[in-house]
Amino acid sequence: MTEKQLIDKERFADIEYNLAVIRERIARAAQQSGRSAEAVRLMAVTKTVAPEYINHAISCGIDLIGENKVQEYLGKKPFLTECEAHLIGHLQTNKVRQIVGEVSMIQSVDSVKLAAEIGKRSLMAGITTDVLAEINVGGEESKSGIEWDSAEEIIAEISEIKGIKLCGLMAIPPICENSAEVRAFFSKMNRLFVDIRAKKLDNTDISILSMGMSSDYEEAVLEGSTLVRVGSSIFGRRIY
Ligand SMILES: *Cc1c(COP(=O)(O)O)cnc(C)c1O
Repeated sequence: MTEKQLIDKERFADIEYNLAVIRERIARAAQQSGRSAEAVRLMAVTKTVAPEYINHAISCGIDLIGENKVQEYLGKKPFLTECEAHLIGHLQTNKVRQIVGEVSMIQSVDSVKLAAEIGKRSLMAGITTDVLAEINVGGEESKSGIEWDSAEEIIAEISEIKGIKLCGLMAIPPICENSAEVRAFFSKMNRLFVDIRAKKLDNTDISILSMGMSSDYEEAVLEGSTLVRVGSSIFGRRIY
């Protein structure tokens, strides 16, 4: 569901302010990890946010948005200023047909079966779809994502599928008590990312490590994230 179309002047100003603060924090964390601010891309996660506010974020320099649900994104798309978009939410195979060609990347590929369906639909559309493999880094039952122990094997299988190009990894760590605990999950992801990249698998371009959200994007950047997905810290608390 999209929020009620309350146009709130104050909220426009908040979005602009929040983006400036977040950019500064990302830049600082990137520097601390020995990288430049440009090494980290900021995605605005726009689930439940009305197009007016998304367009305002775009006018403030956002060049990448992330949506969780196929239907919600396709419903909002006609009202959005042109902007690169990724699907970041769990995707069912029966919805693949609708989203292929509508976003530039699907970050939430969590099985060979889903990857194969995206590949098939992409070939039918005459395109290649960029994807990330989502890893269940915390081994949580409640979360989707490829199991940690079989990650390298599944990634190798996904990389062989025609019609898609594997561009890296995505993860959502468990809710943690403190900074050190969440950094350990991000660090684990970064090691997998470096390992996979070093394999130079055919037909892949492993360059994106998508991790970090409102509560932990600085920790993620300190541990090597190249793309942070930030929602509520930009737009405010979500109203479902
Ligand atoms: C909602 C969501 C985000 C952003 O969450 P915030 O805590 O609001 O920043 C990031 N990634 C995924 C996959 C999400 O579903």
